[in-house]
Amino acid sequence: MALGSLSPFRATRYVASVDLIDIDTLVAAGVRLVLLDRDNTCVPRDTHVAPPAVKAWLGRLRDAGISACLLSNNFHSGEVAASACELGCRVVDHAMKPAPFSAWVAMARMGVGPEQTVIVGDQVFTDILAGNLAGVRTILVRPQSRRDLWYTQIFRLGEALVLRGVEFEGEGPGASGCSDG
Ligand SMILES: [Mg+2]
Repeated sequence: MALGSLSPFRATRYVASVDLIDIDTLVAAGVRLVLLDRDNTCVPRDTHVAPPAVKAWLGRLRDAGISACLLSNNFHSGEVAASACELGCRVVDHAMKPAPFSAWVAMARMGVGPEQTVIVGDQVFTDILAGNLAGVRTILVRPQSRRDLWYTQIFRLGEALVLRGVEFEGEGPGASGCSDG
């Protein structure tokens, strides 16, 4: 059995980047809340600035009536809050993913259930595992930069095994999807 087929580590969908997630599909699936990882999902770790495409995507998400909430493990609460303000999102910091509690807190605050929620992130062992433990749908995106925390770099080795053979929407087979940074 391939590691990637173990359900706690399997995402519902794999998309090259957050701005390529089709919003009409989310609406059709009844999604009302998107829980977003911050680092290397919305904000690259090398530039620390959210790309215009991500901001535009969040604007279209709002226009579609879907709420967004950052769910970040980053301990720098000020930076996370600034990103949430810039992106127009709610925020739950110190999320401690893969624990599911922050997802449950966000859903309770927004008054939506797990069947109306999707989590989007760039890490299998934090974002996707947290989503599966919380009972919500999950979308794994490629990291926006090659810069990671040292322990994340170790997790990436395991991710490579889990993601072997997985194709991401929006990129060709065999592409790494990671921009140089
Ligand atoms: Mg991340």
